[in-house]
Amino acid sequence: MRKFIPTILAVILALTSACGSTPRSAAAPKAYPSAPQILPPIRLDIPSPLDWLDATQAEIYSNIDAVNGSPEYVPDGDDLTQRAQFWLDALDSQLRGIYPDLFLDSQGHSIVPRPRIRIMAKAGANAFSTSATVCFRVPIRFAAPPAGATPSDDASVIQISPKGVVGLYAKSHVSCIDRTATAVGADLVVRHLQQTVHVQHCSLSTDQGAVVLGQDCRLGSTVQSTGASAIMLEPVSNWITLQTSLLGLMPSDDQLAYTILHEAGHYYRAHGSLDKQQYVYFYRIDAENLARSQPKADADLNVLGQKLAALPKYRTQPLTGQTWHSEMFSYGRLARESLVRPTCSTAASPCFEPCSAWTAIMDDPGFGVQFGKFPQQPLDDVARALYDKWEVSLSQCLAAIAIGDAALPATVLDAAARKVFWRTGPTQANQTPAATVLALASEMNAQFFARDAATDQLLQQALDQRLGFYTTEEEADNLAQAWLPLVGIAAKSSVDHWATFAAFKAGREQEGPYNLSAKDCLALYASTPRWSESGRSVPVPVGAYTSLHHSSCFRMWNADQRLPFVPSPLAQSLRPSAERYGGPYADLRARAQAWPNQ
Ligand SMILES: [Zn+2]
Repeated sequence: MRKFIPTILAVILALTSACGSTPRSAAAPKAYPSAPQILPPIRLDIPSPLDWLDATQAEIYSNIDAVNGSPEYVPDGDDLTQRAQFWLDALDSQLRGIYPDLFLDSQGHSIVPRPRIRIMAKAGANAFSTSATVCFRVPIRFAAPPAGATPSDDASVIQISPKGVVGLYAKSHVSCIDRTATAVGADLVVRHLQQTVHVQHCSLSTDQGAVVLGQDCRLGSTVQSTGASAIMLEPVSNWITLQTSLLGLMPSDDQLAYTILHEAGHYYRAHGSLDKQQYVYFYRIDAENLARSQPKADADLNVLGQKLAALPKYRTQPLTGQTWHSEMFSYGRLARESLVRPTCSTAASPCFEPCSAWTAIMDDPGFGVQFGKFPQQPLDDVARALYDKWEVSLSQCLAAIAIGDAALPATVLDAAARKVFWRTGPTQANQTPAATVLALASEMNAQFFARDAATDQLLQQALDQRLGFYTTEEEADNLAQAWLPLVGIAAKSSVDHWATFAAFKAGREQEGPYNLSAKDCLALYASTPRWSESGRSVPVPVGAYTSLHHSSCFRMWNADQRLPFVPSPLAQSLRPSAERYGGPYADLRARAQAWPNQ
């Protein structure tokens, strides 16, 4: 069992001496958790040390970043990092003071490491809580190993896929942060796994200190032995990542703190370690539910909610006159790699010439500049003309690719087409040798645009019925807002944060039924400054019911509507001392904006 208590004491001491505040009395904060609407920071139903990981930055880097473009980070000791860490430490010590028992296991050891900030030099104004792949040592046995299985060896690890299939690998061949020096209890692993949806059809038990996977568990083809010595899990790591561009965007400490508290919400509630679909349920957006950080599910809204949740995950608005499904553009590079290159790269192929013309447009250096965010932003005349050229050329390329081409097995082409054209894939009727990819794509486009009309109707119903859906993102938003007063910041900063974000996105965010444009959102907000006091319902679209992230406008509206229910600031002001933390915030912001490699 890892022990964190000395570290935590050090954190609290460092905080109180750094900002010159007196040690917090237990009396004032203790009133806070009694407010019924505020969720506790730790999920009470799953208090598992396997939910969190105390990792070094180097471990996270090698596990996550090395396979993700090896981004650059602001040094730990930099004022930017220290300033952000200040707010995270302030929250951490407050939560541990208010909810001491929730952070400890039965032996009194902390199971939640102190979270740490790292700042990535990058544009995009994003922030995230980072999960990692970790190998934990525990003996595993299969109740029904495959015939001829060899005895389990000491260096094998199992992984359970999101679909519940068990795989077995040599530990030296998998990329996991190694935590096998100390064995974890089989009971703990079983309890942890039972809380995840993907193993719900796999009976788990323990026997003589080993985890036993029952006969109903689905063993993959890689399983050729009777068991394993370790298991791969996805705990949330102690590293919260902010991008320099986010610090450059936020105009104040208060709004920066909201972002950090949102990520902290993901961290303490260990969202990264659970199947997020557990969180998706539907509720009515009314005054009663807005008073709770976790609204009550409404079974009457399930039918409508499930219909919306079953829609394709990605949906973008077609441009006027557009023939192609706009996703075709997003997947253009994939189309080239998975469909055009293997099919049309030899000069003898009938699609060689038209497809080479198409890929030449893709390779034009100006192409990426014009379409970097297409179709998420409106096109100007130049971009529109280039898009038209691209679309016509693509049509000619696809018309020349025949399903059943002798050069490529039809199954390969079919799989590529499925990837490239939306998710429905070609229908059986079209899988004849005579069919071209163009014909398939045309049919899929027709289906897509027909579905759009139906989708619009469903979204209107959702708006009319005030259909809310609770996700890990909404939980993190609601917690961040409720926690702002704990670090001495007014809850209103949550609304200001989303207004800043909406202004940033104005003109970039595409208008459509999934969203109110950022511009319209800000105009609506300006006309009814306190929506919650305006005396009338101002419905704002939640966004795609297939995405955990709601529309920015809804998040702003949600924060505004909840303001009357958030406690007033309880903590004394915890302003970071300018001397120690890099001066006025404006200076730090300028420093973040000027940081290279964004
Ligand atoms: Zn989030």
